[in-house]
Amino acid sequence: MPATVTEVSFMSDSITAAELPALRLRHNEDRRLLAGHLWVFSNEVDTSQTPLTRFEPGALVRVLAHNDKALGLAYVNPNSLICARMLSTWTVPDTAWFARRLRIALGLRERLYSEPYYRVVYGESDGLPGLVVDRYGAACVVQLNTAGMERLKPFIQAAVLQVLECDALLFKNDGGARELEGLPNYVEAARGQFDAPKLVIEDGLKFRVPLADGQKTGWFFDQADNRRALSKYVRKGARVLDVFSYVGGWGLRAAKSGAAEVLCVDSSATALELAARNADDNRLKIATRKGDAFDVLESLIEEKARFDVVIVDPPAFAKRRKDLPKALAAYKRLNQLAMQLLNSDGILVSCSCSYHVSAEELQLVIARGARATEKHVQILESRSHAPDHPVHPSIPETRYLKAYFCRVTDGLQ
Ligand code: SAH
Repeated sequence: MPATVTEVSFMSDSITAAELPALRLRHNEDRRLLAGHLWVFSNEVDTSQTPLTRFEPGALVRVLAHNDKALGLAYVNPNSLICARMLSTWTVPDTAWFARRLRIALGLRERLYSEPYYRVVYGESDGLPGLVVDRYGAACVVQLNTAGMERLKPFIQAAVLQVLECDALLFKNDGGARELEGLPNYVEAARGQFDAPKLVIEDGLKFRVPLADGQKTGWFFDQADNRRALSKYVRKGARVLDVFSYVGGWGLRAAKSGAAEVLCVDSSATALELAARNADDNRLKIATRKGDAFDVLESLIEEKARFDVVIVDPPAFAKRRKDLPKALAAYKRLNQLAMQLLNSDGILVSCSCSYHVSAEELQLVIARGARATEKHVQILESRSHAPDHPVHPSIPETRYLKAYFCRVTDGLQ
């Protein structure tokens, strides 16, 4: 049988790849990979031929179909339900390989943004499963979410320093995904200092954000375009409520767009201190209120407070599928409370970053909230994340954020 093109190039320029151990799939289990997906689940592996227990977490393998056709290189984790992730390459990853992938990823972001504040690498979508890299000017934050990427850490570190020319590099290895991979959490400054907050500039607004002990990798670049979209809905003199404000991303944007009063609500005192400092640094005025969002919203309702714009941008309520019913109830309550606080002809920005909550489900939550509060709601914009978080066409998990911009009026008479 004549060799296919990939087999030829595989043999000619990548001898070391040929030496990697094989991971053989069961009959027909290559179909999803051939359709572009990058994950192998443990029940798809022919464990009689290639037992998963043979591999160390993170080991590199050649993935073979049942008929021995080579499908590509992957790294494995025998302890995870996703037991292998394809690297879409025939080259064994090293610093030069990561540097090439990073340059390709960077090419997109440089096209999108004129200043170096963005997500440079978004896992599978950039052909680097399990790797996230965020750029804060001369500082970079790297998140290794899988055993495979953890093992390749020295190459990643060298490539990031080389390609992004950063003078500070932080491994923020404390994401929830690491537990599923059997990895310990740790935060490590591989270069430079991260004791003080670092700068993010978003459309001229300057934010100091905590990278080592902040939320996720420190800043929510995924919402940048949505925050930009907020400006047109903030009328001069408006009163704005930013719920789950973190360091003031939405709130400061509203203040800059002409709001007369902005109230940022968060349960973290540190986040609110930074929000206040960020407002000062930008010569803007905000107020802050610390507490559980649900309690604060209820108090505000009791105080008969009213706002022209309310943003609810909570952390993911449904981290796992089984959390969904509880999460939907929480989103529903939150949206109802927010609607009660809106003046007639107000704007509600309702967000969810739970992958398990679909856009339709969030829409239903909003509709139910309107019904319960006797309001009339119009959805003006259905948005997702910014394009520095590109979606992998075969992996729906790479799209998670929903942000609905709604107009809320009193019930139609
Ligand atoms: N809106 C922010 C991101 C929000 S991140 C932005 O655009 O940058 C989620 C925030 O919710 C965190 O700051 C966290 O401290 C806060 N938080 C989590 N649970 C909370 C609760 N029950 N009540 C109030 N704030 C909460």
